[in-house]
Amino acid sequence: MTQIIDGKLISQQIKDELKEKVTALKAEGKEICLAVIQVGNDPASTVYVGNKKKACEYIGIKSLAYEVPEETTEEELLGIIDKLNNDDSVHGILVQLPVPKHINEEKIINAISPSKDVDGFHPASVGALSIGQKGFVSCTPAGVIQLLKRSNIEISGKECVVIGRSNIVGKPMSMLLLRENGTVTICHSRTKDLKEVCKRADILVVAIGKPRMIDASYVKEGATVIDVGIHRDENNKLCGDVDYASVEPIAGAITPVPGGVGPMTIAMLMNNCVEAGLN
Ligand code: NDP
Repeated sequence: MTQIIDGKLISQQIKDELKEKVTALKAEGKEICLAVIQVGNDPASTVYVGNKKKACEYIGIKSLAYEVPEETTEEELLGIIDKLNNDDSVHGILVQLPVPKHINEEKIINAISPSKDVDGFHPASVGALSIGQKGFVSCTPAGVIQLLKRSNIEISGKECVVIGRSNIVGKPMSMLLLRENGTVTICHSRTKDLKEVCKRADILVVAIGKPRMIDASYVKEGATVIDVGIHRDENNKLCGDVDYASVEPIAGAITPVPGGVGPMTIAMLMNNCVEAGLN
């Protein structure tokens, strides 16, 4: 029978473990604090920021909200980051992306101190991951590793295929699977014979950004299929990059959408905040 990987349950377990840690730290007089900066009021960003605040509240992390207007200049935003970098009571800094077009996103990411970079997007964090040093890891791929480990799915020695090479999902995902001793292949839009490559996978991670593109013809029988994608279909129903109805019957294990990878991202952000507080 196919194992359905329950991201909702696993993310809740992680949040409860973190809550315990944070409560113990509070008893020692240490309060963990995350600063969240939102520039403008893009509705999707407001929802994401709201969810992050709620998770902080649940775990007992203090959250500082910087909701600044759309017209905020790059210099002003860099000024806020600089102030937070130098504030010892702030452990994590997060700028909700995307930022408005007049602000250079790369400059903003680079300005956050790597020791407070809880999103794991700073070049120093990315570099540390690739050379096996300690540093913050991008939350969604870190969440996928937790899903696999907590579902007792072995990574070591397995053929792992990642579809997608974005900086926030595909690339760090590949590095993490490699760190866990998987044999990793990365696919992208120029990959030839995508189906054949995917069919080699014992673990197939799909982060392609195309609704229900990956059907059973891409999947080896018994493989673990992790669907990072999230979309609304023509009926306004949530779906992933994987055609769940087609793949579920032949997969050994699979993540649903919703309730698979999605809830893990915030759980791992909270984990990074606690780590930042312990440093
Ligand atoms: P991007 O659009 O940045 O990257 C998509 C990748 O897929 C690219 O590397 C692209 O290749 C590759 N690709 C596109 N089309 C094909 C194709 N036909 N064949 C092979 N490869 C292809 O997306 P993200 O990595 O940011 O996100 C991926 C998905 O995950 C999205 O659905 C997004 O919504 C979701 N997501 C979910 C999160 C969560 O918390 N659950 C968090 C982040 C993302 P190339 O590089 O050559 O263009």
